[in-house]
Amino acid sequence: MNQTIFGCYLQTLVLFLVAITHAVRISYDGYKVYQVTPRTRVEADLLREFEEDIHFDFWSEIRAVDFPVDIMVAPGAQEEFEDFLDNQNLEYTTIIENVEEKIQEEDSRQRRQVRVDRGNVTFTEYMRHDEILAYIEQLTVDYPSIATTEVIGKSFEGRDLTVIRISSGASNKSIIFIEAAIHAREWIAPPVALYIINQLVENSNYTNMYEDIEWVIFPVVNPDGYEYTHTDARLWRKTRSTATICNGVDGNRNFDFQWMVTGASSWQCSETYAGRSAFSEVETQAVKNFFDSHRGRIKLFIDLHSYGRLLMFPWGYTSDPPSDFEELQSLGERVNDAITSVRGTNYTVGTAISILYPTSGGSRDYAKAVGGIDLSYTIELPAGGNAGFNPDASEIIPVVTEIWEGIKVFYDYVVEKYVNGTKTV
Ligand SMILES: [Zn+2]
Repeated sequence: MNQTIFGCYLQTLVLFLVAITHAVRISYDGYKVYQVTPRTRVEADLLREFEEDIHFDFWSEIRAVDFPVDIMVAPGAQEEFEDFLDNQNLEYTTIIENVEEKIQEEDSRQRRQVRVDRGNVTFTEYMRHDEILAYIEQLTVDYPSIATTEVIGKSFEGRDLTVIRISSGASNKSIIFIEAAIHAREWIAPPVALYIINQLVENSNYTNMYEDIEWVIFPVVNPDGYEYTHTDARLWRKTRSTATICNGVDGNRNFDFQWMVTGASSWQCSETYAGRSAFSEVETQAVKNFFDSHRGRIKLFIDLHSYGRLLMFPWGYTSDPPSDFEELQSLGERVNDAITSVRGTNYTVGTAISILYPTSGGSRDYAKAVGGIDLSYTIELPAGGNAGFNPDASEIIPVVTEIWEGIKVFYDYVVEKYVNGTKTV
């Protein structure tokens, strides 16, 4: 009898401990998303004041002028913010009344009944990190002569940082390197990386695309953050490294070029926290080490983000144009033309600083300035309607297929310039 009672007690205690130690999903109940459109530089500067405030989360970046900026605001700060906007005569609308409701809605619509079969890929649902790795590992089994994976590091929480190489024939070829999800919540980025992998490896129409070029694709740079957005906090952006007050570093402010110069924060709770030092994060170190060990071979670098429909190249930290501005602009426009031809989606092409506000410490600028990769781009993929970071899973296919047309243009250019040596721009 006593033993039974003790057993029950123990079971309750265990359940209680499981309940308190198992992470509870962060709720965004009452959080609103405002869309503010600064009409002058002064108005844009006013908005920048809120960037470091933990009650404010900039879903899209502040752009020069006349472009809407989406800002999520915590319940306690909304009244004051609305007063501020009214007083300053800033133009705004509320685009999401309650973020939690929106997330719940999407969860119920997108919650999967079954896991993706191990080794398979899907573009009708968002895949978890282990599913993504299982797929690329399966490709190395099914296509051993062209696909290999390599673990280029371990995340802060110990997950594999895995890249897939796609190549045939000679070694030491020119490399196209594509990475995604350094920002955890930008869920549309990994499917784009996966679709490129899928088309190259599994679509026999494209076998020529890895004969003269080696592709290296890193589908989830920040797997800890990515998993955290699935399990705990849908809108987590940073890595998951621990700190004294707030966890995580913005990986795209953590690279050692013009680190902490502009558009980055030294406050650890900020969404753009640059870290206690450049390359404090193991995830950014892994990218740096990959650049170092392939110096001279990487000809094109693409960093996939969302959201904004932007195709940006260096620099982010200075308005001085790069010496090869014309080439980068012209190539970007041709990539955009190819994307637009599919269903009319139009990207804004330009230097990051001309399209956005100044930023520094990102991988794109680092790749060009330190990595020696002349062709270096950030692609800000489209938002899902008004849904921000969580485009409905039904929007994955339209996005990945149109980007693929742009990727082909990038590929043709790299071949022309570096393989055939017949650059035409
Ligand atoms: Zn991003």
